[in-house]
Amino acid sequence: MSKRDYYEVLGVSRDATAEEIKKAYRRLARQYHPDMNPGNKEAEEKFKEIQEAYEVLSDPEKRSRYDQFGHAGTAGGPDFGGFGGFGGSDFGGFGDIFDIFFGDAFGGRRRPGPERGADIRLDLDVTFEEAAFGVEKEVKVPRTEACSACGGSGVEPGTQPLICPTCKGTGQIRISQSTPLGHFQTIRTCHQCRGSGQIISTPCKACRGRGQVERTRKIKVKVPPGVDTGSRLRLAGEGEAGLRGGPPGDLYVYINVLPHKFFQREGYDVICEVPISFVQAALGDEIEVPTLDGKVRLKIPEGTQGGTSFRLRGKGIPRLGAVGRGDQHVKIRVVTPVNLTERQKEILRQFAREYGWEPVEQGKDKGFFKKVKDAFMG
Ligand SMILES: [Zn+2]
Ligand SMILES: [Zn+2]
Repeated sequence: MSKRDYYEVLGVSRDATAEEIKKAYRRLARQYHPDMNPGNKEAEEKFKEIQEAYEVLSDPEKRSRYDQFGHAGTAGGPDFGGFGGFGGSDFGGFGDIFDIFFGDAFGGRRRPGPERGADIRLDLDVTFEEAAFGVEKEVKVPRTEACSACGGSGVEPGTQPLICPTCKGTGQIRISQSTPLGHFQTIRTCHQCRGSGQIISTPCKACRGRGQVERTRKIKVKVPPGVDTGSRLRLAGEGEAGLRGGPPGDLYVYINVLPHKFFQREGYDVICEVPISFVQAALGDEIEVPTLDGKVRLKIPEGTQGGTSFRLRGKGIPRLGAVGRGDQHVKIRVVTPVNLTERQKEILRQFAREYGWEPVEQGKDKGFFKKVKDAFMG
C-alpha cells in the first residue's frame, strides 16, 4: 500500500505554518480517534495515518527531510518503529492525548470552572386529604451553603490568596511523555492547588477555607392539589451550594401519600366501601357516605345487591395542574347478621318460607342455596 502524502493527509498546503499543521491535526485526530469510532477499522487506519503525518510534519527536522526525500526520507527513522502493534484497546496514553486537546483548547490555562451544586432529594409524607387539596409544609433541609463571611472563596476577608508556586498560578502542570506514537505533552491538574492556581494562606475562619458551611434550613414546600405517591416537586436553587461561584443545585421533594381509613385512590377517583344491612339492601334506604368534602346522603334503591357501586360525580381528587375532579365510587357491602337469637332465627325462617325459599333447619344444609351449590358442583 503506497503512503499518501502527509500534507494531503492533514489537508494542509506544503507551506503551512506549524500552527496550521497543529490545528489540522487536532481537528482530524479528534474526528478519527478510536474512542470516538469504536470498532471502526477505517477510522483507526485513518487515525494512524494522521498520527504518522503529524509526527513528521510537526518536527521541523523530519519535515524538511520529508520535503526533500518524500516518504523515503522518514523511513526507518528511529521514531517509526512503533506503528505496527497498534491495536484498538491496548494503546495506553490516549487519555493523555485528550488532555492535550482539551488543555490546549482552553489555551493551556484550563481551570476548574464554576460547578453547579448537587441536587437534594427529600421524601415528604402527606395525608390523603392534603394530597387531594394541596398543603403548604415546612421541611428541614440539611445542606451546604456558600459561606457568607468569605462569599464562598474560602479566603479570610482582608487577606489575599497566594499564587500557587507549583503551577505558577495556571492550575496545571505539563508533563512530557514518550510513547510509541511519539512525544506528547500531557497537561495535568496541579496537585498542590487542585487546579485553582491559588493557595489560600489564611483560610476563612467561618468555613475553615472550604467556602461552604453546613446549614439546616427550613423551607416551605407548596404541595399542589392532586399529587400522588411518587409525585416530584422541584424547588429550583434550594439544593447544595455550587462550587467556585457555580449556581446551587435543586431540591426535589418526593411525595408519599399516607393511607386513609376509608378511602382508596385510583388515579383521580376515590374508592370507598360502605356496609349496609341486608334489610337496607332489600328495602332501600338513604345513608350517609363520607366524601373528601364531608358527608353526603346517598339513596340506596330497593333490592340493591352486595358489590354494587354508586358513583358520586366530582367528589374525587382534583386533577393535578388541571381543572376538574375525579369521581367517588361507593361500593356496597351487605352485612350478614351474626349471633341471632332464637326468635330472630324463627323470623328469618318464616321469611324464607314466605319468600319461597325452603325453610332452613339448624344443622341441615339444604334449600335454595344447597340447590345453587349442587348446580355449581354438579
Ligand atoms: Zn468562609
Ligand atoms: Zn498549582
